[in-house]
Amino acid sequence: MSWVPQAEQTGFGISHLPYGVVVLDGRRRPAVRIGDHALDLAGAEAAGLLDAGGTLRGENLDPFLAAGRSVWRGVRRRLTELLSDEQARPAVEPLLRPLADAPPVLPLTVADFVDFYSSEHHASNVGEIFRPGQPPLLPNWKHLPVGYHGRAGTVVVSGTPIVRPRGQRRLAETDHPTFGPSTRLDIEAEVGFVVGVPSQLGVPVRVGEFAEHVFGVVLVNDWSARDIQAWEYQPLGPFLGKSFATSVGAWITPLEALEAAWVDLPPQDPPVLDYLQEPRRRGLDLALAVTWNNTLVSSPPFASTYWTPAQQLAHLTVNGASLRTGDLYASGTVSGPERDQVGSFLELTWGGTEPLRLASGSKRTFLTDHDSVTIGATAPAVDGGRLTLAEVTGTVLPARED
Ligand code: MN
Repeated sequence: MSWVPQAEQTGFGISHLPYGVVVLDGRRRPAVRIGDHALDLAGAEAAGLLDAGGTLRGENLDPFLAAGRSVWRGVRRRLTELLSDEQARPAVEPLLRPLADAPPVLPLTVADFVDFYSSEHHASNVGEIFRPGQPPLLPNWKHLPVGYHGRAGTVVVSGTPIVRPRGQRRLAETDHPTFGPSTRLDIEAEVGFVVGVPSQLGVPVRVGEFAEHVFGVVLVNDWSARDIQAWEYQPLGPFLGKSFATSVGAWITPLEALEAAWVDLPPQDPPVLDYLQEPRRRGLDLALAVTWNNTLVSSPPFASTYWTPAQQLAHLTVNGASLRTGDLYASGTVSGPERDQVGSFLELTWGGTEPLRLASGSKRTFLTDHDSVTIGATAPAVDGGRLTLAEVTGTVLPARED
C-alpha cells in the first residue's frame, strides 16, 4: 500500500510505478507515476533519496534506460520503499506533484521504430478484406514475424493532436491517383516495447535475452491512412500512409511490474526455426480497450497475438542489426477472434462497408475530423490486483489547406 492518497484505486498503485518525463516549473524532469501524482526523480536523486548513478538527472529517460537491469531493479525497489513507508513520507511528499501541474512529454528519444504484424486474427481479417477468395495469410506469415521499419521522428506522446494527412490515393473505380486529405483515416491498437540496453552490431539477440534489453511497455496507436497505404504499399510496404504520426502512452510500464501478467501460449504450427523457438512461449495478458468519442468499440486481447515480444526481438536482430537505447518496436494491430475484439476500424467496419453507430447516434466508418480515440489497457499486477497502462489518446484535426 502506498501512503499517497487514493493511489491504489487508480491502477497506478505501488505495484505499478511507470516512468515518464513531466514538465515541472518549465523544466523536463524524469518522474515516476503514483496515483494521480508524479514523483520528481531528478529531485529525489539530488536529495539523496535514491541512487540511479546520476541517470535520472537529465531531461529524458535515455541514460536510465541504458543503465540496465540491475539499476532498474534497484531504483524500483527503492521507490517502492519510499512510496510505501510512512517514515519516508516527510522527505518524499514535497517532491510529489499532481499530474494536473506536471504535464507529461515524450519520455525518451525514440531511436528506431519497428512495427510488426503479429496478430493472426488481424492479418487474416486484412487478407480477407483486401484479397477476397485467396488464402488470408501469405506463405511467410507463420514462419517469421512480418514487420517494417517505421519513422521514429514522428512518434508523439499521447494527447498530441493528429493532423489528417494528405497524399496520393486512388479512389474506387478509377485508374489514376488524385491528391488530397485521406478519406480512410484509421487507428491500429498496439502494444509497444521500449529497448533500454543496446546490443552489438553483428551479434543477434536471442529469445532468452529479451528481459536483458527491453525495459518496458507502452500502448501505441499506429494511425493509418488506408487509402494512401493501399495505393503506395506494393512492392515495398507501408510508407506515407503510416509515417505522419504514431502515438505512444506517456508512462512506460517496466517489465518488472508485469511479472504476473505473463501467460503460456499454445505451440506454433508449423514449428518455427530454431532461433525463434522459446523453451516456454509466453505472452502478456493485457486487456486492451478502444474508445471512439466516448463509446467503447472494441476490447482486443493481447495474449491472442501469434508472435511473442521475445520472438519479435530475436527476429529483428537475427541478421546482426544492433539495438540502440530508445528503440521502439510495436506488436502490430491487436485483434482477437471476435468482431468486438479487433484493433482497427478497417476490421470493425469490414473495409468501411458496415458502419458503426456511436453512443451519440452518429455513424462512422473511418475517422471524421475532431474525432478522438483512446486506447487503454489493464493487466494483472504482482499484488493480485490489476494495473492500468497509461492510455494513448489523440484527436484528429482537419487536413492542412494550401
Ligand atoms: Mn501497425
